[in-house]
Amino acid sequence: MKPVDRHLADILAAVRPLAPLEVEIDAALGAVLAEDVASPVPLPPFDNSAMDGYAVRAEDVAAAPVTLPVIGDVAAGDGGLNALGPGLVTRIMTGAPLPTGADAVVPVEWTDGGTARVRIDRPAPPGNAIRRAGEDVRAGDVVLREGTRIGPAQIGILAGVGRRRVRVRPRPRVVVLSTGAELAEPGTPLGAGRIWESNSFMLTAAVREAGAEGFRAGSVTDDPKEFLDTLDAQLVRADAVITSGGVSMGAYEPVKEALSPLGTVTFEKVAMQPGMPQGFGVVGPDQVPIFTLPGNPVSSFVSFVLFVKPALRVMQGLPAGPPATVRATVTAPVRSPAGKRSYLRAVLTGDTVAPVTRQGSHQLAALAGANALIVVPEDVTSLPEGSEVEVIPL
Ligand code: AMP
Ligand code: MG
Repeated sequence: MKPVDRHLADILAAVRPLAPLEVEIDAALGAVLAEDVASPVPLPPFDNSAMDGYAVRAEDVAAAPVTLPVIGDVAAGDGGLNALGPGLVTRIMTGAPLPTGADAVVPVEWTDGGTARVRIDRPAPPGNAIRRAGEDVRAGDVVLREGTRIGPAQIGILAGVGRRRVRVRPRPRVVVLSTGAELAEPGTPLGAGRIWESNSFMLTAAVREAGAEGFRAGSVTDDPKEFLDTLDAQLVRADAVITSGGVSMGAYEPVKEALSPLGTVTFEKVAMQPGMPQGFGVVGPDQVPIFTLPGNPVSSFVSFVLFVKPALRVMQGLPAGPPATVRATVTAPVRSPAGKRSYLRAVLTGDTVAPVTRQGSHQLAALAGANALIVVPEDVTSLPEGSEVEVIPL
């Protein structure tokens, strides 16, 4: 059997970052920056008031309380240059440019709020309530580095430095297709011998959580031709494809039967539990990467975490490797088959981890109650309670 690490390494060596493109910043949420972004101007671009109040010369209010004449207003957005002579003040609003000659702002709360004359009750030191040009960003400073995932605050600063468009690696478009004659669409009645189809929903959600765009193509029966036709039709919008089911050792394995003759997808047994039957390769004229995951719901989920998620990071131009792990103390004894790496569903609380009782690869409810996977190495078959283990938080 193929070691887990080698299977991941083969996948990571085969996938490539998507080509960068320019998008409107409006459309950049979730994409990854493909350029360093610098500010063309200092931010703030000019000295301005941090509060509503009065622009003053600090020396004129040093002996407060004082009453001084108000020569006018400066509002946010005022562009005209204005200067303040000795012994005079001007009303000023938050964000308004500081008049030349002024070196402090007295908040309105320290005054009687007068408009022709104002009584100022407290002195304001030089620099009071002034936001200096460039105190957030200097002209030419890089504000966002290539490889940054763009969230709301990143979209904010893109706009804040005047950008309308930005170069990004787009969110990979990932088509998810389930196979199985037994699968019934949730929301429809369950006939004899059937189960509701869950993998395409779960994997599409996992794709989206991983920062990519998930397209759920639903499910097909175990007819290889129906599978191939559906795959063909879906390929036009796919940067990657995930299938579930139809790759094991039985008969009626449509994914294996349809893709094996192409010679571009390799089906292997990977030394892991759950999730031993795995396939990976490329399909179609554009050589779209395809992950053919096993159908058992827990197997397909664990396979996604171990293999697909890191590959999606590579496609987004992000550093990728095996999932991050933490160390924890296990609260019950655990067992694991010899020669396979186990991923046991568990609940991680602080630095202890409790395996859930139902560890079958079909036991999806147990997975839904877990928040972590305990990793048991290939050469370990049992561990006593209290052992330190490696854990993948989910
Ligand atoms: P397979 O990998 O096709 O042999 O399927 C293995 C097991 O997973 C079988 O019990 C299937 O019924 C179940 N299974 C396969 N695909 C799905 C799916 N999309 N949703 C829920 N269960 C599935
Ligand atoms: Mg099947």
